Amino acid sequence: HAKRAGRNQLSYYAPVMNAKLKATLQMETDLRKAINDHELFLVYQPIFNVRHQAMVGVEALVRWRKPDGSMVFPDEFIPVAEQTGLIVPLGDYVLEQACKQLQQWHKKGLDLSMSVNVSPAQLRDSNFISLLQNCLKHYSLNPLKIQLELTEQIFIENSEELVSSLDTIANMGVHLAIDDFGTGYSSLSYLQKLSVDVLKIDKSFMDAVLSDTESAMLVKAMIAMAHSLNLAVVAEGVESQEQQDFLATEGCERGQGYFYGRPVEPEQLAPYFSDYLATI
Ligand code: C2E
Ligand code: MG
Ligand code: MG
Ligand code: MG
Repeated sequence: HAKRAGRNQLSYYAPVMNAKLKATLQMETDLRKAINDHELFLVYQPIFNVRHQAMVGVEALVRWRKPDGSMVFPDEFIPVAEQTGLIVPLGDYVLEQACKQLQQWHKKGLDLSMSVNVSPAQLRDSNFISLLQNCLKHYSLNPLKIQLELTEQIFIENSEELVSSLDTIANMGVHLAIDDFGTGYSSLSYLQKLSVDVLKIDKSFMDAVLSDTESAMLVKAMIAMAHSLNLAVVAEGVESQEQQDFLATEGCERGQGYFYGRPVEPEQLAPYFSDYLATI
């Protein structure tokens, strides 16, 4: 019986798996071409100081515009890029473009910080540190103005090499942030062991912060914990004035979300810049 069930299962799942595999392979081919043909570009989402409600930086977020004009969002292609190793050339491209853009803003007197998402495979890549150094040098950037965002996923492995590359990066003066904090099921001990500066509270906690007391308690606790460890806090997914007020009351330093602004192409940030220049 077991055998038959097994065989049935196989014949049931095989076509499904096949279709998935085919889709992944197609995506890989398309993505490889997209990287070479520069179909990828960056949008930038404002990050605000909560207390002063002023823009202090942006996060670079990758987008893919296919030749037919359709857009593909990162949740669709980043996982494939990670599975296939394409995340390394993709991530290198993102880092370089983000640095180039930041230099242009600095030249205009906009003293913003740039956050860039970095995948585990990039950090494991032996060329990553020198790429980062080259970018800082080539675009004459103050390392303190760069923040690399890592998810908790990376801390699950807890390897010697990882600890040492993070130390090297931190010693360069580049800031490190934990992205999507609270969703990764990893031990909290890494927070004291590793050279992390910033904690980004995941949007899922912010979504319920006004409607659910437990979410509110969790966010308060995360802010308090971060502060006791000398970490600054960024809240993700801030969509309303009420959420912004909550964060201000709780002493959260920075906020990111549709309330402050959506991710947009550089030219569309102009209105934010005139506000920015008016306040300095
Ligand atoms: P993330 O790093 O946590 O980026 C924040 C995501 O939340 C972005 O989605 C942003 O558009 C969205 N978001 C921000 N504020 C709000 C809000 O108020 N409401 C709602 N509903 N959404 C908001 P996006 O751009 O689709 O990126 C998704 C994820 O893909 C990112 O999450 C990041 O993990 C990954 N990603 C994006 N660009 C890159 C990249 O260049 N490299 C790597 N490795 N990952 C990237
Ligand atoms: Mg991020
Ligand atoms: Mg995030
Ligand atoms: Mg997120």
